[in-house]
Amino acid sequence: MSSPRLPNPLRMAIASCLFPRWREANVNFLIGPAPLDPNGLNRMLADSEAGALVTFEGWVRARNEGKPVRSLEYEAYLELAAKEGNKILEEAREKFNLRAIDCRHRTGHLALGDLAVWVGATAVHRDDAFKAARFVIDEIKHRLPIWKKEHYVGAEPQWVYCRDHHTHVHFHAEDYYAKQAKVVSQEKFSRASVLVVGAGGLGCPALPSLATAGVGRIGIVDSDRIEISNVHRQPLFSPAVVGESKAVVAQNKMLELNPFIKVAAINERLHAGNALELIADYELVLDCTDNMETKFLLQDACLKAGKPLVSASIYQHEGQLRTLIPGSPEGCLRCHQTETPDDSLLGNCNDFGVLGAWTAVLGTMQAAQALELLQTGTNSSVGHTMLVNLRDLSTLKVKNTAREGCAHCAGNFELHESEIEVSAASLKEENTLFVDMREEADEHLRQFIGQPAKIVVGCHRGIRSKRLVRAIRAEGHENFYSLRGGATALSAP
Ligand SMILES: [Zn+2]
Ligand SMILES: [Zn+2]
Repeated sequence: MSSPRLPNPLRMAIASCLFPRWREANVNFLIGPAPLDPNGLNRMLADSEAGALVTFEGWVRARNEGKPVRSLEYEAYLELAAKEGNKILEEAREKFNLRAIDCRHRTGHLALGDLAVWVGATAVHRDDAFKAARFVIDEIKHRLPIWKKEHYVGAEPQWVYCRDHHTHVHFHAEDYYAKQAKVVSQEKFSRASVLVVGAGGLGCPALPSLATAGVGRIGIVDSDRIEISNVHRQPLFSPAVVGESKAVVAQNKMLELNPFIKVAAINERLHAGNALELIADYELVLDCTDNMETKFLLQDACLKAGKPLVSASIYQHEGQLRTLIPGSPEGCLRCHQTETPDDSLLGNCNDFGVLGAWTAVLGTMQAAQALELLQTGTNSSVGHTMLVNLRDLSTLKVKNTAREGCAHCAGNFELHESEIEVSAASLKEENTLFVDMREEADEHLRQFIGQPAKIVVGCHRGIRSKRLVRAIRAEGHENFYSLRGGATALSAP
């Protein structure tokens, strides 16, 4: 826990009154393959104002859990590791009165006796230096996302995730998955790759189920930032991370839950221009989105790319779940709705209200169906729509029927999304007029007909404005656009 700090100039001013040569402690964390030279590092910290230097060296040792170790390799999520390492040193700077605090961590192949990690702390008084060095190495051991491959004498090498890799207390994948070994083929999961589009009410419960099952590679697509009103139904997020990227926070959470998988954060909105590229790297897609435009676009992209899609949506307290396999005889979403339907038919959670327990049930069902598909090649919602009453938990399974001659089923179509939506950024374009409809009746919009400008219409969520723009465009006024996401898009950081 860091203490509140005065702004730097003020601290400097106060400090320079007290100590003539006061300065902030130097902080330096580096992780990489270069060998570490403790003598050089010690010299680097030389400081005539310091009364103490305390260093820690972590060495590769010869024995682990009874097995003789020959050498080892470190592999780190470099970006995450560097970020976390610097954070730890900043915390040390807050806690102790230091001159400098420095930490180096090796990656790559290390031999017995090699220096794997080095910490150096200088301070005016030795007590701060001792405490800071101890604090830093303990935190580094617990918090840095580092993997280690151990090469044994007379046994196969093994990748291990070390929560405490310098005293060698290891978690092994086989122990992690021990309780599901009798019900699944772990091999099938670890070879699998799943793209989850949307880290919201459905994505938040679906993701941990996929990650802890051991799906080898997971991608998370979401361009939103966390809002305080998300937290009640999106338990990967807490009030402490409001304003941060959903995809990145969810990614870190998944890696924390299961260090034996790979997780990618894709901080982008899925659109016609990137949909095929995003799904190309994955064998299965989960539609956890909350708007029709993206749902239909995602299904179209999956049809084009031949990828199975597990799709879920909520209308008030009614959940729908279906698995679409391209080319299956039960058809596609567009068999009976060639045009993308309006979002008002879907019922955005923000408009109707929803309970976190409801989205948790549906999102978890979605993950369970995805895992079943990965294990067996099919599941009970293939070609069907499962209707789930999220209040009384009754379910109804309806067989989907294909429409003969559906161009989408035949793969005979172009990817597109309606061009009537624009982003908040486009409001800055020249000759653009923004009409705020939040407090206005529908008729208010008609007075802008005939104006020689691009008219961007905004409402609270971008749903009503889209309906109004559709109606007015149907009369031939094609200079009307709807602000995507509504007023929330204006206030987003
Ligand atoms: Zn270890
Ligand atoms: Zn179809």
